[in-house]
Amino acid sequence: MESERMPKVTLTFDNGPTPEVTPCVLDCLARHEVKATFFVVGAKAIAAAGEPLARRANREGHWIGNHTFSHSTPLGELKRDAAVREFERGEDALAWLEQPRRLFRPYARAGRLGRHILHPAVIEKLQAGGYWCVLWNSVPGDWRDPEGWVTRALEDCRTRPWSLVVLHDQASGAMKHLDRFLRTLRDEGMEFVQDYPPECVLIAAGKIVQPLDPYVAEAAL
Ligand SMILES: [Zn+2]
Repeated sequence: MESERMPKVTLTFDNGPTPEVTPCVLDCLARHEVKATFFVVGAKAIAAAGEPLARRANREGHWIGNHTFSHSTPLGELKRDAAVREFERGEDALAWLEQPRRLFRPYARAGRLGRHILHPAVIEKLQAGGYWCVLWNSVPGDWRDPEGWVTRALEDCRTRPWSLVVLHDQASGAMKHLDRFLRTLRDEGMEFVQDYPPECVLIAAGKIVQPLDPYVAEAAL
């Protein structure tokens, strides 16, 4: 009889780097020996205070991904050129990155999945460049509920076989609870993994591995 597997948890930190927050998040992850992914905003990753943090995260074994350059309008709501520019400028911001897997996560606006998040022109780029396009299955809302998000995140992690949690290394105050969150997961025997649950990956090494229809605008601009 197969023994019951403990749930797996993958952590991602979006929208940074943030000088007041990212160092504490990195310290906390190091303390718990957890490797995560940082999906960075290009404009912040090229800032004088941001680039060293993205480099530090990478040096410490975390994966870094492009989360668009300006993180202001979902790609599906942009015209072709503007959508491609968001992606390419986000890549330029990470030109120093040497990482076998090239990662992209679209901006969705408050974590809501839908046909607004991707543009066909960017999908072409992701395919041609051999990218991984990574979504999520747990959005505990740390940015809007900096005190209460841990309860929702724990609930997700306990009830799913493999959670891909979206958190934010932003200055909301939420990350002061990261240590407690990680400790609880560890105490409950959950397994931290850096890789992603297959159902959250739309494109793997440039290959479309899931139907993209639910994420692409019907009539792209
Ligand atoms: Zn974001």
